[in-house]
Amino acid sequence: MTQQRTLVGGSGQPPVGLATSAGHVLQLLRSNAAGYSRAELLDITGMARSTLYERLDALFAAGLVYESTPIHAQRGRPPRALRFDDRNKLVLGIDIGHTHAGIHLLSLSREIEASALLPIDIVQSQEDVAGQVIKESLRLLDGRQPVGAGVGLPAPVDPLHRLGLERTVLAHWDLQRLQEVMESRLDCPVLLENDVRSMAVGEVREPLESLVAVKVSTGVGSGIIVGGALVRGAHGAAGDIGHVRVPEAAGRRCRCGRDGCLAAVASGRALLADPKLSGYGTLRQLVDACGSDPAVRSAVAEAGRVLGRALAATVGTLNPGRIAIGGLVGVLPDFLRACRRQILDDAFEPSLVDLEIVPADSRTATAIGLCRLVEESLYAPERVEQLLVQRAG
Ligand SMILES: [Zn+2]
Repeated sequence: MTQQRTLVGGSGQPPVGLATSAGHVLQLLRSNAAGYSRAELLDITGMARSTLYERLDALFAAGLVYESTPIHAQRGRPPRALRFDDRNKLVLGIDIGHTHAGIHLLSLSREIEASALLPIDIVQSQEDVAGQVIKESLRLLDGRQPVGAGVGLPAPVDPLHRLGLERTVLAHWDLQRLQEVMESRLDCPVLLENDVRSMAVGEVREPLESLVAVKVSTGVGSGIIVGGALVRGAHGAAGDIGHVRVPEAAGRRCRCGRDGCLAAVASGRALLADPKLSGYGTLRQLVDACGSDPAVRSAVAEAGRVLGRALAATVGTLNPGRIAIGGLVGVLPDFLRACRRQILDDAFEPSLVDLEIVPADSRTATAIGLCRLVEESLYAPERVEQLLVQRAG
């Protein structure tokens, strides 16, 4: 695998309008879906006409820019807008969970064109899980070639592969190997990211928004966006709130090997292991019984309350404008209500002003977030420059 094929996720930063490489001209065009005319580009960038036209020629030749027909015909010849060519470019968004992998084929405009839900068991070997996921992805592609793929994983993901996975659900996985195998089989660059961080990116509505996304399914995790930028942390473990110790979990064993983790109380795995809730073989069965079994309802509400305690600290630290909670357990009204009440009880009032606490669609948000991360990485200015140099050589 060459270095150029390795994707490292983008930062979500707005474009730098004054930089003048071809990569930066493309970044400017990507920032505005309506595109810009040549005159506007000259005006915005301050570039010499000959330099700009040279950059545009290279971008046209690489299939990265196209000239759109004006919508309203005017007298004379109206200027044509130049746009980032996102047409016919497909991205795979692969969300690997503990028991299922959601595989989605998206356009770069974030339309989901096809989806499949594949039953998996994350504790199987990496080769088994990757093999099944690749097979289903190729079936969904049906001969079409994606420009890139994003894979969301239920563990901390360090973009530089320095962080060990020993105490996570992916204990025996080798992410560098996973990336190489998937790039080779899918024949496109592959980006790996934590699943809930990808979901947080998919939840962003405003360019400079601050939000926290939380997923409560078999496990529990969060993703943090501050001022529009995804927070990965020093080693890719940002948002891994499942292993924060909470008093309610005292004496309860977590799958990480420690006692007292949030995940030992506020997760689907903890609910399934609760001796008061016997007879539920799968998390789906337990969740479906929330409306009819008072014991499930009360345990789900208690799990929501404990998560709310942990999230109140996050609210006090980051002052997000929105908390979006998804996952099989997270979207249950009893869970969400108890979680919201506890956040409002525990957090300091100034950090609660205008705070929205809402259910998230973790399925589509994760796929959309992965698609956005792949796009940002594929078309980052320095990567576009590399591509153009390769083409010229
Ligand atoms: Zn733990």
